[in-house]
Amino acid sequence: MNRAHDRSWWATHVRPFDLERYREHLVAILEEVREVSRLTPEGLSRILRRHALPDGTIFSKSQLLRGYRQLCRQEGRPLDRELVRRLQIKPTRTLSGVAPVAVMTRPYPCPGECLFCPTVEGMPTSYLPGEPSAQRAADHNFDPLAQTAARIAALRRTGHSVDKIELIVQGGSWSAYPEAYQEWFVRRCLEAMNGTEAASLEEAQQRNEEARYRNVGLSVETRPDLVTVEEVWRLRRLGVTKVQLGLQSLDDEVLSRNRRGHTVAESRRAMRLLRLAGLKVVVHWMPNLLGATPEGDRADFLRLWQDPALRPDELKIYPTALLPNTGLYREWQRGAYRPYDEETLVHLLAECKTLVPPYCRINRLMRDISTEWIVAGVKKPNLRQEVQRYMARMGFACRCIRCREVRAAGIDPAELRLKTVSYPTDATEERFLQYVTPEGALAGFLRLSLPQEEPPLEELRGCALVREMRVYGPALDLEARQDGAPQHAGLGGRLLEEAGRQAGLAGYRRLAVIAAVGTRPYYRRHGFEREGTYMVRPLTWSTDSTTPPRPHQRARRAPLEPPESGPA
Ligand code: SF4
Ligand SMILES: [Zn+2]
Repeated sequence: MNRAHDRSWWATHVRPFDLERYREHLVAILEEVREVSRLTPEGLSRILRRHALPDGTIFSKSQLLRGYRQLCRQEGRPLDRELVRRLQIKPTRTLSGVAPVAVMTRPYPCPGECLFCPTVEGMPTSYLPGEPSAQRAADHNFDPLAQTAARIAALRRTGHSVDKIELIVQGGSWSAYPEAYQEWFVRRCLEAMNGTEAASLEEAQQRNEEARYRNVGLSVETRPDLVTVEEVWRLRRLGVTKVQLGLQSLDDEVLSRNRRGHTVAESRRAMRLLRLAGLKVVVHWMPNLLGATPEGDRADFLRLWQDPALRPDELKIYPTALLPNTGLYREWQRGAYRPYDEETLVHLLAECKTLVPPYCRINRLMRDISTEWIVAGVKKPNLRQEVQRYMARMGFACRCIRCREVRAAGIDPAELRLKTVSYPTDATEERFLQYVTPEGALAGFLRLSLPQEEPPLEELRGCALVREMRVYGPALDLEARQDGAPQHAGLGGRLLEEAGRQAGLAGYRRLAVIAAVGTRPYYRRHGFEREGTYMVRPLTWSTDSTTPPRPHQRARRAPLEPPESGPA
């Protein structure tokens, strides 16, 4: 990677701390911060006020962090991760082990005509000015390189480790954009991470393998009817590892009344294709659409788990927001649509949360839009907290991944237990391998997918698939170690070994990982080699003569047709 370019890039984004002038102040503050046993925001403010400069100015946390990093560099000593954590502004942002960087594509017409979807001049379809990521994108004129670089700089300024970046591409339906634009967009994002330009997408991907800011995940948003075998192949070529899929409803009547332009059968088929290619799927689901009722929504939500063809890995619940300039608004004006009241919505969402199985993560319970846009209905920006309070009162519990993540707490790797949750889909057997603490918190997990029929992509023939592996705890720099932090406690290696063991016993000869470009070196160290867009390793123990043949060698269903039975 080009370090000189990197330095000059960051120099224009981050002003250095005047270490010569304020060294004494800085050292005194850091010592006090380190000594306090439990630092609260108020406690930190008191320390900062005690060490105000002669003109009354106090340092911000980002200035302190910058100063501390410079101090360590100058004195040639490693960063104290606990101290950095205390100085971080919003530690939760990188607690999932990776730094999320959301970027947005330029406005472009979407083939959909959804009744609830707003179109605002100068914004990609479905996004509104004032949504944080949309606003940031517009401020950078939707330039992918500028958006990525600015986001990395902002996360760094606030003390987060950004060595491992999950790139989240937002903005309408990705698959509807021209292919050349898609390729250019991803290349420019990678160039921002690499700190250097590349002549092609492949070159940018190659450089990212050794870059300081590695891409460890790439997600895009699309519609079920745009997911085809060719599209899946294109997504993989771009390095996509996760797809956000707008299903919205599992009722054809509701889909049709809301002019979604696709059917439940198309949703099931898209999920199946994506899963067979090893992609993770984040489903978007919308209660309170036109024609829905609270009881109907509850039954609809149950279908997500009862229908083997669905069963998503992650979920975003977006209660329908009534926005101006939409078809839904006109339905509301003529009395054909009514938003749920707060009590109904909170109760419904609480019930939904209790139904989510442990292999799924609920990422959102509402959209991050300014309440000024909402014409009628629930306008609470803190709806998630409301739902949590209600659940606590009712004695409800959510078992989703997000609610069980180990977060900042230290762990003892020796105490972790491995638990496997298995569930069938219409095309695979899924095994969710998880390491849990004695208290039941989740320290890491791996999604092992055992295809029951040949996958559509040639390079995956005969492979069991690792669709995701994640180890929790604060994101650590790639070289950093922190006692008690799970990210570098070898959990990843242990999960991979167990996945290989289980896949081998199930009769698979090879294990493939859908590795984001920046994680390829990690998998190489674990014996994987690149094959097409995947990392693949042979499974030696599957040569055992007692091993049964893989299930899809025994019985094979016609590829990509939904099973005969509908939702259970
Ligand atoms: S598919 Fe998505 S972006 Fe397109 S119109 Fe429907 S909701 Fe809007
Ligand atoms: Zn949860």
